[in-house]
Amino acid sequence: VGDRVQFETDRDGQGVIIQSEPRRNYIIRRSSNLSKEAHILAANIDQAFLMMTLCMPETPLEFADRFLLTAEAYHIPVILLINKTDLISGKTIDGLHSVEKTYRDAGYTCLAISVKNGSGIPEVTGHMKDKTSLLAGNSGVGKSTLINVICPDAKLKTMDISAFHKTGKHATTYAEMIPLPGGGNIIDTPGIRGFGIIDMDRNEIGLYFTDIFRISQDCTFHNCTHIHEPGCAVRQAVDEEILARSRYQSYVNIYSDRNEKYRI
Ligand code: GDP
Ligand code: ZN
Repeated sequence: VGDRVQFETDRDGQGVIIQSEPRRNYIIRRSSNLSKEAHILAANIDQAFLMMTLCMPETPLEFADRFLLTAEAYHIPVILLINKTDLISGKTIDGLHSVEKTYRDAGYTCLAISVKNGSGIPEVTGHMKDKTSLLAGNSGVGKSTLINVICPDAKLKTMDISAFHKTGKHATTYAEMIPLPGGGNIIDTPGIRGFGIIDMDRNEIGLYFTDIFRISQDCTFHNCTHIHEPGCAVRQAVDEEILARSRYQSYVNIYSDRNEKYRI
């Protein structure tokens, strides 16, 4: 999905692809963790929206951080959508503000929305206009509901959370491009939560954590791993609450993954 091709048509209107243009970027999917075979799931993506929820279900922040890391490696800009804010009130509002601050400090646009009551949706469609956007996020966060709202012709089935728990996980992995009424397209990848597996040297991880990279310019050692070195500006920033502890913890967890391939 997303390839740009040249094609010829015969008199019956049948088309044959004669050339495929070079891809600006693409995301790949391996059929399993160990499989060597990979197929291209989507190409020429302008940006990705990562939809998260703070409850029902709660998106693990490490999942978001792994997604953002991979997107940086692929050079795909990400906008974060925090959905189901209609369920947030009273004491949970602090949690929302803290997640927003964490990701805005890392340089990401972060929109608090509710697909259910419509808040923030015009902003989302504004960002989508005339662009090809990947819509990603864990199951149950509201991706199909959003697509139904912004392109009613798509008629996607939204799955009830309880039905989801009964049937288990989606098995299908495919991508679909849905044209938006106001211009632009959404790439929907049902059953796929993120970008798949990417090979990355562990020393690269700190370069793609935008906030950690920025702060690491002040580390004493230029090749600081931010794990144990003296004079580490990153660990100091965590202690001084300048860098969110969750971001640092995700970094450490990914850095310590034993097989140096990252399942995102
Ligand atoms: P997907 O797996 O990401 O495509 O999630 P769905 O679109 O199927 O939504 C999962 C459930 O969350 C459905 O029951 C939706 O009605 C519900 N949902 C979606 N958006 C919202 C929202 O903004 N607020 C609330 N309270 N529920 C929502
Ligand atoms: Zn450091």
